Amino acid sequence: MNLDLFYRQAVLSVAGNPKVEALIKTRARSLVRRYVAGETLEEALLVAERLEAQGVHAILDLLGEMVRSEEEARAFQKGILELIRAVAGRPWPKYVSLKLTQLGLDLSEALALELLREILKEAEPKGVFVRIDMEDSPRVEATLRIYKALREEGFSGVGVVLQSYLFRTEKDFWELLPYRPNLRLVKGAYREPKEVAFQDKRLIDAEFLHLGKLALKEGLYVAFATHDPRLIAEVKRYTGAMGIPKDRFEFQLLYGVRPEEQRRLAQEGYTVRAYVPYGTHWYPYLSRRIAERPENLFLVLRSLLGG
Ligand code: FAD
Repeated sequence: MNLDLFYRQAVLSVAGNPKVEALIKTRARSLVRRYVAGETLEEALLVAERLEAQGVHAILDLLGEMVRSEEEARAFQKGILELIRAVAGRPWPKYVSLKLTQLGLDLSEALALELLREILKEAEPKGVFVRIDMEDSPRVEATLRIYKALREEGFSGVGVVLQSYLFRTEKDFWELLPYRPNLRLVKGAYREPKEVAFQDKRLIDAEFLHLGKLALKEGLYVAFATHDPRLIAEVKRYTGAMGIPKDRFEFQLLYGVRPEEQRRLAQEGYTVRAYVPYGTHWYPYLSRRIAERPENLFLVLRSLLGG
C-alpha cells in the first residue's frame, strides 16, 4: 500500500473514535468553515448565489448519513424536500445530492426506496436533478438496485455515482449502461479493504480515466468529479482530441477545494459544479476531507497545540 492510501485509511479508522470526534468537533472550526457552507439552508443558498455569480453551479447537499431510526430518515427527507422547494424558484440550474443511508438504507431498502421515490416525485416536475451519492462498498449493490428500480418506474432526473477504486466498478458500469445513466465518476472516499478495492493511487487514477473514456465512448453524459490536475488535464485533452463537445460532460469539485480552478474551468467554457454541503451533521463529511489531505490534519493539530 502506498503512503497516500495508508494515511487515508489511518485517518478514517480513527475518525469513528468518540474521543477523536469530540476533539475535532471543537477544534476544527476553520476547516468546517472552509468545506461546509453553513448550518442552515439560507447560508447554503447564499453560497450557491455567490458561486453562480462566478459561473459555477451548485450541487446542494443536506449533510446526513447512516441514520439509525425511521424517524431520523423521515426528518432528513423533510429537509431535502424543503431544499427542493427552496431551489425550485431560482433562476440557476437546480441540483441536489443525497445519500441513501440518510434515507434509512441501513434500516430497510424498501424505506430508502420509498423516501427517495417521494423526493423524485417532488423534484422532477420542478426540474431539480437528484444525484444519489455512492457510499462504502457494502452499500453499493443496494444503491444500484434502487437507482435501477426508479429508472424502471420512469424517473429520469436522477443520477448515480461510480467509484474507480472498486474492482467491481467496470462490471457495474456495463450493467448500468442499458439505463443510459447520467454518471458521476469519482475515485472513492471510503476506507476499503484490499479484497475489494485498488490500494495504489496510480491504478485508481488509471481506472478513473479508463471508465470515463468508456462512458464517453458509449455516449453517456459524464460528470468528472475530481480535483486532480492531471486527470482534469487528461479529460480536457481527450475530449478535445476526440471532438467530444463540452455539453457531453462536466467537471465537479467540492466547495472550498481549488476554487480558482473551478472559476478557470468555467471561464474556459466547461460546465462546472461545486458540491455545497450544509447542515449540522458535518462530522463524517469533514473526516473524509481530512483523510484526503494531510494538510487538513495539520490544521487540526495546530489548533490543539495552540491551546
Ligand atoms: P486526489 O488524488 O485525492 O487529490 C488530487 C489533488 O486534489 C490533491 O493533490 C489536492 O491538490 C487536491 N485535493 C483533493 N482533495 C482535497 C481536499 N479535501 N482539500 C483540498 N485539496 C484537495 N466519493 C464517493 O465515494 N462517493 C461520492 O458520491 C462522491 N461524490 C463526490 C462528489 C464531488 C463533486 C467530488 C468532487 C468528490 C466526490 N467524492 C465522492 C469524493 C472522491 O471520491 C474523492 O475522495 C475526492 O474527490 C478526492 O479525490 P480527487 O479525485 O480529488 O483526487
